Amino acid sequence: MNQTIKELSSFLSLPQKIIITMHRDPDADALGSSLGWASYLTKKGHDVTVISPTEYAANLRWLAGMDQVLVFEKSSQQGQCRRKIEQATLICCLDFSALSRLKDLGKVVQDAAAPKMMIDHHLEPEHFAKWMIWDTNAAATAQLVYSLVKEMEVGLPAKEIFDIPMAECLYAGIMTDTGSFRHANVTPEVHLAVADLMLTGFDCSRVHRLIYDNAPLSRLQFLGYVLSQKLIVLPQYRTAYMVLTEAELHKFNSSSGETEGIVNYGLQVENVVMSAMFIERKGEVKISFRSVGSFSVRDLASTHFSGGGHKNASGGRSEHSVNETVATFLSVLPSYEQDLLSVD
Ligand code: 5GP
Ligand code: MN
Repeated sequence: MNQTIKELSSFLSLPQKIIITMHRDPDADALGSSLGWASYLTKKGHDVTVISPTEYAANLRWLAGMDQVLVFEKSSQQGQCRRKIEQATLICCLDFSALSRLKDLGKVVQDAAAPKMMIDHHLEPEHFAKWMIWDTNAAATAQLVYSLVKEMEVGLPAKEIFDIPMAECLYAGIMTDTGSFRHANVTPEVHLAVADLMLTGFDCSRVHRLIYDNAPLSRLQFLGYVLSQKLIVLPQYRTAYMVLTEAELHKFNSSSGETEGIVNYGLQVENVVMSAMFIERKGEVKISFRSVGSFSVRDLASTHFSGGGHKNASGGRSEHSVNETVATFLSVLPSYEQDLLSVD
């Protein structure tokens, strides 16, 4: 057992008041890892509150424990969130490593007296946490939660540590962050972790269906529109991109969950190794990048779009107009030409 886990185990041997939070617009890994960790800590006798900085996508509502999640952005819940954070004796920060990823909740967490722990797999973390369970080789934060819990319960078989709801939450995170076990981040450890979780007997096909085959008709119609009208391919840069204005989102009555994942479709075009999606929303432009192989969209996002993330999946934002933001993107592409062309 390493020093961090030893210290944590000893700290958690007494009942604590624990807050668990995750990045804004949380995805299945952010929420799945948080709820899985919450379920473990609750079983251990701690008082646990999960707080999301913002609303989450509708297809994650079924995750066990979701009905107890507080949303900081909701004015009706913000007071309660602030009180809980004030009283907390530990704040767990999952699936992010920069406090700006918490939106307005970032300052509240930063100013809180309680020590923080981070469980995360993103590159270049900020150092705000007393305890860091941080590994960029992990495919998902949920995989890190799995390993942490296993280590804390060393000697116990998985079947006795994990139950079905907890295994489903962790599986949802691992499944989505690996693109259903097909991205380059899939390692033997990923499959071993999943095999262990499956020993609880949960139905992984059901988890897949609830997440991927659970969309409102409008999402599919929206996707059809984007792919047929908005997908631009630049073969000379092996790049695909899509631009969506606020008016278009409005027309399709699209919520943030409905644009999630659409950027990946760009990579299905032959020879394309980078896909980007620009979404105009509430006065800013949110950008998603995906790539394959050696091309790092994290470098591109952090150099030009105040963002970051992983080598093959990153994001950023811009306060310029959507046209200016896309113009910046197009103007920097030539400087990446060699790197894009050399991807295997
Ligand atoms: P998505 O495109 O799904 O919103 O984000 C993909 C990945 O990029 C996320 O898992 C996260 O690591 C990273 N990411 C997205 N937006 C931002 C951002 O604004 N700042 C940073 N640092 N990372 C981001
Ligand atoms: Mn993640």
